[in-house]
Amino acid sequence: MGKAEASSKQNCLPVKSQTSAKFSNCAPPTRPDVQPAQSNDPYSRFIPIQMKRAIFARSKGQCEYLAPNTLARCPSKAHLQIDHVIPLAVGGKTELKNLRHLCPAHNLKAAQMAGISCLNYFPS
Ligand SMILES: [Zn+2]
Repeated sequence: MGKAEASSKQNCLPVKSQTSAKFSNCAPPTRPDVQPAQSNDPYSRFIPIQMKRAIFARSKGQCEYLAPNTLARCPSKAHLQIDHVIPLAVGGKTELKNLRHLCPAHNLKAAQMAGISCLNYFPS
C-alpha cells in the first residue's frame, strides 16, 4: 500500500451499512497504464476530456450565448451542453475555438438557426 493510498483511506466517510462495508475502500482506482481517451481527428464528434475542461474553464460554467442586440450573456448555469459554433454537418471542426457551452434552450435555438431541426425528426 502506498503512502498516498493510505492517506486517502483516512479521508473516507464512515460506512454504516453492511453492503457498503464491502466497498469501504473509497480510494479511486488508479490505472497508470490507462490514459484518457483521445482523438486527433478534428471532424470526430468525440470531445476529449482535456478539451471539455478547457471549455469549462473558459465559460466558467455559464452559457456562452450572447444576445444579438445587447451582447448580454445568458446567465444559465444548468445542464450546459457543448455546441459546435459551425456544425460538424457543414464542415465545422471539433476544436476549442469552434466549441462553446450553451444551455439547452440556446443550443436548440442555435441548431434551429443553423437549419438543423429536431422537430422534424418525429413527423406527426
Ligand atoms: Zn443560454
